[in-house]
Amino acid sequence: MIIVMDAPAVQEVKQVLDELQYLGVEGHITECFNRTIITADGDVLQKNDKHFEGLPGVEKVYFITTPFKLVSRQFHSDTSIVSIRGVDFGSRAIPVIAGPCAIESYEQLYDTAVAVKKAGACILRAGTYKPRTSPYSFQGLEREGLAILQAVSRQVDMPVVSEVTDPRLVENFCEAVDILQIGARNMQNFALLKEVAHSKKPVLLKRGPASTIEEWLLAAEYIIAGGNSQIILCERGIRTFEPYTRNTLDLNAVALAKVLSHLPVIVDPSHGTGQWRLVGPMAKASLAAGADGLIIEVHPSPAEALSDGPQSLTPENFDILINELRSLANVLHRQI
Ligand code: PEP
Ligand code: MN
Repeated sequence: MIIVMDAPAVQEVKQVLDELQYLGVEGHITECFNRTIITADGDVLQKNDKHFEGLPGVEKVYFITTPFKLVSRQFHSDTSIVSIRGVDFGSRAIPVIAGPCAIESYEQLYDTAVAVKKAGACILRAGTYKPRTSPYSFQGLEREGLAILQAVSRQVDMPVVSEVTDPRLVENFCEAVDILQIGARNMQNFALLKEVAHSKKPVLLKRGPASTIEEWLLAAEYIIAGGNSQIILCERGIRTFEPYTRNTLDLNAVALAKVLSHLPVIVDPSHGTGQWRLVGPMAKASLAAGADGLIIEVHPSPAEALSDGPQSLTPENFDILINELRSLANVLHRQI
């Protein structure tokens, strides 16, 4: 159940919480959508929505059947728009985020940024704290990379997204980036989710490689319940029995997440496939499935990349792809 208060009066909020407690249910207060909202979970509430609607200070009560509440489309019927410096996710536009998997040097990031911007990407991606499977793989330039990212962002005038892996780094990241990326491996790092919620920065929430759609949406619920509704969901492939591709890009999840939730959903066909030749076809399929954006890895010299070279496009191939995607977007009555 979601109870939207029409005025954040302490006494009225307390009465709602007390009445919920009387029914054996705990209410949680959230400040989002410019409102005070009380959220509660429990079957007993089904029979009581009319009662709560009559309490003083209550504007509207939603009985939501899914475990995720504030991210549910039952609560918010229109797709939410997440705006980052003039780039809208969740509108008719389909923003393309592009850049290297990892920042390797100022020159590498700058050259990539200039190329992807020229091709039509509107947000630069680049990791600097890399969650690598092996401790012996390149871990990223860390703090130095964050400074490079900030400098390149200013130099080329592009908003940037980068993965934050530790709650203690959120504050630093907020100064350097426009979107905080929660990587697939950290989708259920609840301390991190709470910290990015607190930051109020836009969040790109990747789906865990072995997470269900419900777990993914509940991870988003942590962020929104913590007071941050600027969330972009990102499908990046899940682990299946198929070894020929790095992951199995789950386009069911894209179409379904858009039915279940009002949050914009984007797709990462680079990690979803692990092979640069498959990035184009799956990027196109993602648009057809209703994706609200794409995030694509591009490297000036993929063969020399310190991470994820095999799935990275050259700037030339990225340029070709984005032109193909533009035509497809037109057919879909959308725009790149
Ligand atoms: C990345 O974007 O480089 C990354 C590590 O992604 P994921 O968390 O989806 O594996
Ligand atoms: Mn990568």
